[in-house]
This record gives sequence, structure tokens and C-alpha cells, in this order.
Amino acid sequence: MDAVEIDDARSVKVQRDDGPMYASRVRVYPKAVSGQFRRLKWAALIVLLSVYYVLPWLRWDRGPDAPDQAVLADMVHGRFYFFWIEIWPQQVYYLTGLLLLATLGVFLASSIAGRAWCGYACPQTVWTDLFLWVERQIEGDRGARIRRDKAPYRPGNLVRKFAKHAAWLVVAAVTGGVWIAYFVDARVAVPAIVEGRASTTVYFFFALFTATTYLLAGWAREQVCTYMCPWPRFQSAMLDEDSFVVTYKAWRGEPRGRHVKDASWEGRGDCIACNQCVAVCPTGIDIRDGLQLQCIGCGLCVDACNAVMAKIGRPPELIGYATERNAQASRAAGGAAPARTRLFRPRTVLYVMLMVAIGGAMLWSLAFRAALDINVLHERNPLFVALSDGSVRNGYTVKILNMTHDRRVYTLAVRSPAGAEIRVVGHEGAEGRSAVLAAEPDSVATFRVYLTLPRAALTGESLPAIFALTDGARGETALRQTVFRGPAK
Ligand code: SF4
Ligand code: SF4
Repeated sequence: MDAVEIDDARSVKVQRDDGPMYASRVRVYPKAVSGQFRRLKWAALIVLLSVYYVLPWLRWDRGPDAPDQAVLADMVHGRFYFFWIEIWPQQVYYLTGLLLLATLGVFLASSIAGRAWCGYACPQTVWTDLFLWVERQIEGDRGARIRRDKAPYRPGNLVRKFAKHAAWLVVAAVTGGVWIAYFVDARVAVPAIVEGRASTTVYFFFALFTATTYLLAGWAREQVCTYMCPWPRFQSAMLDEDSFVVTYKAWRGEPRGRHVKDASWEGRGDCIACNQCVAVCPTGIDIRDGLQLQCIGCGLCVDACNAVMAKIGRPPELIGYATERNAQASRAAGGAAPARTRLFRPRTVLYVMLMVAIGGAMLWSLAFRAALDINVLHERNPLFVALSDGSVRNGYTVKILNMTHDRRVYTLAVRSPAGAEIRVVGHEGAEGRSAVLAAEPDSVATFRVYLTLPRAALTGESLPAIFALTDGARGETALRQTVFRGPAK
């Protein structure tokens, strides 16, 4: 059992979790509620789902030889397109930067508003909310659903259950289909899936994402947050005494109990033990037992309790978002106005500074990155060849990345070692300190290149070799350093 006690230092109830690691699932039937936080959740749901379902259908003209889908992760050709930005596999560090920004954003949101991400924007929360809405439309609100599940099976109930699961599967299939459309052109992938023309791989991933959406949002729901998600386990490291978390103001609500209309409020708390806060909770917990791992900070219990307080003529916010600091101040002041909120604290300032630094570096790099790159691989077998005239030859595989949508002509030159001559296999005559090479639009051109160095210029067993690739028309140059190997002296 969980022990609940009032922690005087924190002014709120905290729950000591001495319970077993696993418990049988008690089915949760969240009740519909209205209020400001419910409206905020609807707004977040509409915006996020609209972005998810609509984004793959937006177009962006990149010229005749490139896909025109605005957001596309083209796995076959190894490109990620985001409107005007095109990321090549060699530039995967941009995706790393985006992940870092997202992580820091969640850290910042958590240190300011607790589990705001979990309660409003996490995909599990958003799709569970959508599935719950569908369930309510078909099976009714909490009371009706509980009655139906307890009643012996009747044809009417079975029809509703069947309709609900069918509707869930449709939503899950649309979600799975749209997910595929982020990887294969939406105008090709979606009709192909519907008409049975898609590949086995596409159907496999479509089925996988349909099934996971159906199971996680329809069946598992709060179990994902409680047992599968690691975030609640380390979220406490993100919180401090100035983080807003959903708080039951026990000093104001206790002692709780039923209240008879027009009876005095003297000597008792404002909580009338109506359990509305529990009935609306999507994870089925009682926030009056204190801050709990299962609480996703959605604020629906705040809406439910505020409606009750309005009905019985007591002040709102018996349950509300509060920081530990202003909960203590409020308690000390007998429930009067809470202390000032401190948004700017070392950790929030640090998160913002890191986000600005990473975001700024990414933007700068995106704005000024070259549209060409060069990769050079030194051949290992043999490391070098001693030619009959005494000179030493090394072989390289040179890859030229043409990131433009036009055919480009480049100059490949050797800057080091001094005295080395370049020869490109298949481009005989292109010998000397440089060679002129072409690459097709949006492609990687591969060349076999030899560097030859007179023995007298070989000053060591290993010398730095520097290749320079220049696009004269655009005024861009990319350098790549490797080695030139020779025999031991
Ligand atoms: S909704 Fe408010 S009054 Fe009702 S049980 Fe919850 S805390 Fe008490
Ligand atoms: S306790 Fe309140 S804030 Fe926490 S999950 Fe339940 S309804 Fe949401």
C-alpha cells in the first residue's frame, strides 16, 4: 500500500510509494470535463494532429529532378527534405542538433511547468485523447461505459463495441498510412496502399504503425505512461521548488467530507469528497494523495474541481498548478495570494542559452553551407606502389557530392604533398596538379584517383595529402585531408 502523509516542509501531500512493483490493471473510465485546461488540450490536439495529417500533402518546388513533397525522408535516395532545406546522409549532424533542441525544449518545459509535454503534446496523450473522444461518441460517457461493461452482453452493446473498434482501426490506419507518407511520396504511397499496389515493405510498416496506434492509444492508454515510458522516472531531476505541478492544496481542502447545502464551512475543508477529480483523470489517480508518478499534469482534475467549487460557492483552485514555493507561501498566508513566480532561474536560463547556441549554430551552418562536398578514401591494398622510374604512387576513391539540382563541373586539385601529380582513371589526359570532373545533379560521382610523387619529394613514410574540390561558377571549395604513404627510409 502507498503511505500518504502531509509533509509540513512542502505544504502538500506527498505519496511514499511502498507498493508492489506490479498490480493488476484497474480499468480507467475517464469522464468528460470542460474548462480552461480541457480547452487548451483540445487546441493542442487539433493543432498537432492537423500538422501530422496535413504536412505530407504540402508541396515544395525543387526543380524537375527532385521530389516536390515539402517534408520527406527519402530513405531510398538518402535525403531528408524539409521545405527549402535538403539534408544529405553526410549531414546527419543536423538531425542530431534537432534532437538536442527537442530534448532541451522538453527539459525547459518540465522545469517550468512539470509534465506539460506529457499532458498536452506527447503523441501517446494526443492519440489517447482522440481515441477516448471516439469512445465517448459511440459508448457514452463514464457512467454509461461502466454500466455497459458490467452488464451481461447484449446485442446493442456488442454493436457499439464493434463500431468503436472499427472506428479506432480506421483512425489507426489513417495514422499508419500518413506515417508512410513521410517516407514515400504521399501522392504515390497512399493511393498505392488503398488500391493494393504497394510493396510488401510498405504494407509491413503500414500494418506495424496501424497496430501500434490501435494498441497503444486504444488499449494500453495510461499503462504506457505508467509502465512503458521512462520519462516519469527521471522527471523529478527536472523539477525544483519553482516548477509548476498540479497540486491539491491539502491545507485548504482538509478535513474533507460531504457537505450539506447551506451548512457552515467552519472547522472543515473545502473538499466535499465528490471524487470528480478522480473521475476525470485519464490515469485514474487521486491527486489528493499527493504528487504521483502517474500524474501527467494534464490539469483535467483542476477543471473538474473548479466546476465543483463554483457550484458550492467556494473559491476556485483547490486543485491547481502551483510551485512548491508558492504553495508554501499560500499555506503560510492562509490561502491568500501566492508568491511571485520565478521563471528565470539558473537551470531555465542555461537551457535557453544552450538552445539559442545550438539553434544559432545550426541556422548559421545551414545558411552558409556549401552545395558541394568531397570524401576521399585511401586505398589500403596496396598502400603504395613503387614505379619503375622511382616515383611512388598512391590510389584513392574520391566521391564528389553535387548537392545542387544542376550538372556541375569541378576542378579537383592536389594541394599537398608538394610535387604530387594527379591522374583520374578513365579521364586520361587529365594529369598534372588538377583535373576537371563533372557530377550529375543531386548525386554522388565516384572516381578512382592516383597521386604520384617523385621519390626525392617523399620526405617521410607518411605525408598529409590534401585534395581541393572547386566549383568555379559558384566560387565554392571543399577540402579533404588524407595521407600519402611511401616506403620506410
Ligand atoms: S473535485 Fe475537488 S471537491 Fe471534489 S473530491 Fe476532488 S478535490 Fe474534493
Ligand atoms: S491527477 Fe489531474 S493532472 Fe494528474 S493526470 Fe490526473 S487529471 Fe491529469
